[in-house]
Amino acid sequence: MTLTVLPHRDAAGLKAGQLYVGGQWTPARDGATWTHLHPATGEEIGEFAVAGAADVDDAVAAAREAFPSWGTSRASTRIGLLLKYAELLRAHADELRALQALDNSVPLSFGAIYATSVAAAADVFTHHAGWVDKAGGQTLPPYQGGDHLALTFREPIGVVGAILPWNAPFLLFAQKVAPALGAGCTMVLKASEYASFAVIRMVELLAEAGLPDGVLNLVTGPGDPTGERLITHPDVDKVSFTGSRAVGKRIVEASAGTLKRVSLELGGKSPAIVFPDAPNVGLAAMTTMGAVTMGLSGQACVANTRALVHRDVYDEFLGAAQGMAAAVTYGDPFDPGVISCPLVNGRQLERVLGYLEKGKAEGRLVTGGERLGGDYASGNFVAPTIFADVDNHATIAQEEIFGPVLAVVPFESEEEAIALANDTEYGLGAGLFTADSARAFRVARRLRAGTIGVNGFQVEPHLPFGGFKQSGLGREGGLSAFEAYTELKTVLMPLGEELM
Ligand code: NAD
Repeated sequence: MTLTVLPHRDAAGLKAGQLYVGGQWTPARDGATWTHLHPATGEEIGEFAVAGAADVDDAVAAAREAFPSWGTSRASTRIGLLLKYAELLRAHADELRALQALDNSVPLSFGAIYATSVAAAADVFTHHAGWVDKAGGQTLPPYQGGDHLALTFREPIGVVGAILPWNAPFLLFAQKVAPALGAGCTMVLKASEYASFAVIRMVELLAEAGLPDGVLNLVTGPGDPTGERLITHPDVDKVSFTGSRAVGKRIVEASAGTLKRVSLELGGKSPAIVFPDAPNVGLAAMTTMGAVTMGLSGQACVANTRALVHRDVYDEFLGAAQGMAAAVTYGDPFDPGVISCPLVNGRQLERVLGYLEKGKAEGRLVTGGERLGGDYASGNFVAPTIFADVDNHATIAQEEIFGPVLAVVPFESEEEAIALANDTEYGLGAGLFTADSARAFRVARRLRAGTIGVNGFQVEPHLPFGGFKQSGLGREGGLSAFEAYTELKTVLMPLGEELM
């Protein structure tokens, strides 16, 4: 069997090599392009434009020009755009999933998982449409008495540079674009160079929904030159970024020049804690290993890639996790029987293979530990892997691997489990499995992470999501995300003749 996605590529009619600037689709000024290779087959999928510094400057200028009008537009205009776009997304869900499969090889079957689906992205737009006429300021009573008004207003921050990763383009596009446009900001959006085709189509649909020229501009291309120009551009007021911790740190550094506002959604090394009173240890193991293997093959920021398992249920956990590993299927993302994907590119494949070798020295290999060959040899496929008896300080228990690799660490007491869970530089998510609700609450409150799942984990698009510690700055989802695209202004107004 030779894997190929070329018939799907030919059917998709990809938009070639164009940026979206000031309401026009245009090639890069210097004609630079990037050829996208499919992660499962190595086949050439298509070319898109690489925006150079001059193109990013054009896009920022277009966003700046559009800001005074969009930033003061009627609430009904912004609500109308967001709601209409949500409907268009829902109507084009199948087409977008197919484009994503050509981009990053995430299988069509994974569309049934709500969290990163087009349906979830559409719901984010519906949700933020609701804040446009509700997220406002306050009227505050005077602290010192007297007859004057103190009012606060929320005003749009200005021009936002938004940068996306490759792994969940629908949801992450929505988590940035919906609140930013809803709050009255204008934008320059940078797609990941490993997931551009779906994002290009999402922008086309936004234009179809009635986006005014210049309000959102799309630049495609890699971190250098495209991303670098955006994060250092003096006329960008805020950078909203989802991606790796290393690039997040670079963005904080680059923001210093003009003191840009920064929101960061970064990586994690999230723990799943399995207590001996877990209601179903087998299910806990399958849930944990499933999150590390299904759909994104462990290339998910919040996957619980570190399992802390009580010694009393340790062997039962390992057996069920191994069963889950054996059930994962790889291959053609358009095949409904395929439930996972390869690693996104050759660089990531090399990185993960390096961690597998480290893991063999640091833990006990239970299953996997190698690249898949045979029919899979032309893609970046890695076998679902479990390392048991890992020390929590080992590299594979501390670093974000971003592959289908679970590190299992044993523990003996609740106190020890909490200490191990928190002994990480990250703090994005955590899961715990117990039938004791008092323990669940007690432990959840002591874990230093942004989202905690008790006996399961379901990210919803309207809930605040983000990281403690080095997993990020700020939150996406909900009112706090909407407010993160606004500045708070205080206006004081004496009503009488008194001197202030
Ligand atoms: P990445 O950091 O390599 O790239 C992310 C984006 O940043 C891409 O668009 C890339 O082109 C751009 N970029 C790279 N260098 C840049 C630079 N110097 N200046 C500006 N932009 C630059 O990450 P990735 O491989 O696309 O995604 C994987 C990472 O994203 C993982 O660490 C994962 O945990 C994280 N992630 C976090 C969340 C979250 O919500 N917390 C969600 C998804 C992914």
